[in-house]
Amino acid sequence: MPLFHSHSNSSFSPALDNYPLPSSAIRGLIPSMPDLQQTTFTIADLRSRAEGRGPMPDDVRLAVLGFPVAHSLSPAMQNAGLAALGLEARYAKIECPPEDLAEAVDRARAANFLGLNLTIPHKFEALKICTEVDDTARLLGSANTLLFDGRRTAGFNTDGTGLVRAIRDSFGMDLRDLRVMILGAGGGAGTAAALQCALEKCPRLVLVNRTMEKARDVAARANQLLQSDRLKGPDDPVTVIPFETDLLRDQLARTDLVINATSLGMKRSDPPLIPAALLTPDLTVFDMIYRPAVTRLLEDAQAAGARTANGLSMLLHQGALSLEVWTDRPAPVDAMRAALAKATD
Ligand code: NAP
Repeated sequence: MPLFHSHSNSSFSPALDNYPLPSSAIRGLIPSMPDLQQTTFTIADLRSRAEGRGPMPDDVRLAVLGFPVAHSLSPAMQNAGLAALGLEARYAKIECPPEDLAEAVDRARAANFLGLNLTIPHKFEALKICTEVDDTARLLGSANTLLFDGRRTAGFNTDGTGLVRAIRDSFGMDLRDLRVMILGAGGGAGTAAALQCALEKCPRLVLVNRTMEKARDVAARANQLLQSDRLKGPDDPVTVIPFETDLLRDQLARTDLVINATSLGMKRSDPPLIPAALLTPDLTVFDMIYRPAVTRLLEDAQAAGARTANGLSMLLHQGALSLEVWTDRPAPVDAMRAALAKATD
């Protein structure tokens, strides 16, 4: 689905046309350029940048706001993309507590930023700040990308489309052809994945979550999207279950793709999400986690003979789509992929 009906066709003018970028001559005069993958700026740095001083270089025109955000690989990926496009704009990471989000967005605009990315915990609140919102962000109820144009702020969500592209890229398969089980379907990433599956008209969707209420809410939204063009029948296309072995076994027998959208697996000491014995060679397993590169779930799935991939390709594709929103040009995906590979080496 095109973003914002391709924003170049909307009344939003391409952001890069609105603001002059600093010349390389000026950039060369900046005494010590911080390594933007290593540096984490603060809201105080953004305030001083908006007043024309402080440590944040003038050519920083994009950033990710998060809390925490120091771990983010987006600067490495986005700066490689901006350089490959020949644009003299750079991308930084800024730690921003939840209570400072609205101010941070205002300051970034005042500092001539083109836009922003949002990560945990800002994606839901960010939507309230937008003056206009694209269809996907409205549907998901959250925005991970903001585009500035004068006083206007447009919100986009590239997470769902990023997932579609990641599944195609990793496995050569399309989400719309797959019976999908989402582990952690009540969280932010799990909700986006579930609603994207519904938008893609996946033939079967199983939502697994520790807190059942949250998954039931998501199921109701997914069912609405699916049922609008289905004949009514006894079989609900969306099933909600807790993490219980017998229920998981039963549902896995009718699943093609398992997606982990929980944060379980980031630590080596984390318990298994699914008993290893339930994993079979005919499954495909995608873990949204990319650090570590091989989680316990992926290790168990590989041992069972299943196809696997981690979340790096999702990070890449949602980032590439964000870059297209800001620049209105096709993203240099290969350069961004190479930078991510180097950053995770
Ligand atoms: P979130 O909103 O905090 O959701 C966390 C989810 O994990 C919830 O469903 C939660 O269940 C579940 N969970 C947490 N601890 C659990 C446990 N001990 N047992 C069972 N379930 C547990 O976080 P998020 O933003 O959705 O992110 C989730 C994961 O996706 C993170 O690892 C994040 O790094 C990754 N992610 C990756 C990408 C990418 O581009 N690759 C993009 C977005 C997110 P409850 O509802 O019961 O609390």
